[in-house]
Amino acid sequence: MKILVINAGSSSLKYQLLDMRDESVLCKGNCERIGIDGRISYKNHEGYNVTLERDFPTHAEAFQAVLHEIVEGEGHVIGSLSEIAAIGHRVTHGGIRLAKSVLIDDSVIDTILEAAPLSPLHNPPQATTIRACRDLFGEALPMVAVFDTAFHTTMPKKARAFAVPYRFYEEHNIRRFGFHGTSHRYVTDRAASLRGKMPQRLITCHLGNGSSITAIRDGRVIDTSMGFSPLDGLLMGTRCGTIDASLVTYLMEVDNLSPAEINRVLNSESGLLGVSGVSSDFREVSAAAEKGNERAQLAVDMLEYQITKFCGSYMAALGGLDTIVFTGGIGENAIDLRRHVVENLSFLGITLDEAANSVRGEEIRISTPDSKVDVWVIPTNEELMIARDTAAFVKNEN
Ligand code: AMP
Repeated sequence: MKILVINAGSSSLKYQLLDMRDESVLCKGNCERIGIDGRISYKNHEGYNVTLERDFPTHAEAFQAVLHEIVEGEGHVIGSLSEIAAIGHRVTHGGIRLAKSVLIDDSVIDTILEAAPLSPLHNPPQATTIRACRDLFGEALPMVAVFDTAFHTTMPKKARAFAVPYRFYEEHNIRRFGFHGTSHRYVTDRAASLRGKMPQRLITCHLGNGSSITAIRDGRVIDTSMGFSPLDGLLMGTRCGTIDASLVTYLMEVDNLSPAEINRVLNSESGLLGVSGVSSDFREVSAAAEKGNERAQLAVDMLEYQITKFCGSYMAALGGLDTIVFTGGIGENAIDLRRHVVENLSFLGITLDEAANSVRGEEIRISTPDSKVDVWVIPTNEELMIARDTAAFVKNEN
């Protein structure tokens, strides 16, 4: 069975075609600059690799270009569209109603659009892409929506609610939703497979351009660092993470900023970039820190400190700790950052296997066998998770 996975962003559309017999990737790539001009990259499993300039006024044209490359392009991997058994769509926000992956029908598309105010950059293009797929394939082809927020819906209300007047919870859905759920779920499942059973008390650290940390008891989320929006929690590439809420109005006043401008400052000019003044890219910031750039060093120190604090507080929330997982571009590759965080937590009896920790981007246990808490690096694979959820619906239908 072949499953097409679509991950539409505000001006991009990533895709992968997987053969679910062995979960191998037949081809993958990205459409960029949608709404500006357009470019598609395409790579297949036999090493064919191409980037083409195209015209993508909307996500619909980008999707058509993807299908063209898959079926008719020079490096095509299938002979006909009918070989695609189903399409899995990543959807950023499921709102308060969509709490797990669902088979898409008109009401699901309506609900994705209802949640658009909560995710204005992502849910609308994702709904557009879903509609474009339906227009091309018709309603007979199963399509499944997999939500970034879904894994977090098990959070208890005391972790979910903000201490603002309760009517906001009821009238405007003001609550902690959490994001990166598909990634946290994937590494949770992998941690369970690697250990032979689901860890009772698990902390998953998804550290990339966007970052979040999640506390998971018996496979169910009890708390997560991203909140109402993906701005909350850890400092990120350009996002500030958790700040004193009074800073928002204070900065607006002292710097004469409009709501749109303060939004831009906190989302696009803060985080690693804002503190270091060097880059939003962790590799570049840590390289500058090594050369003696003090602000870059401060940004790295702040990130390591915040990860440590979240792990400490989530350990308390979980009533102890069995396993920590690092994932995402930083979590999978930043050897020194992992070492420092584990050293900060050494009072828990965690000990690092230095040789294992020197590996980048591979699934590996980086704690010693006698460590009180086992620590893993598990490269994330959101596309595979989406493909598995999608395949499960198709199997159930047959
Ligand atoms: P992601 O959003 O998951 O793709 O992660 C992107 C982040 O991972 C960027 O900040 C990169 O600098 C960081 N990253 C990627 N490779 C490395 C590496 N070898 N060492 C440190 N950070 C890395």
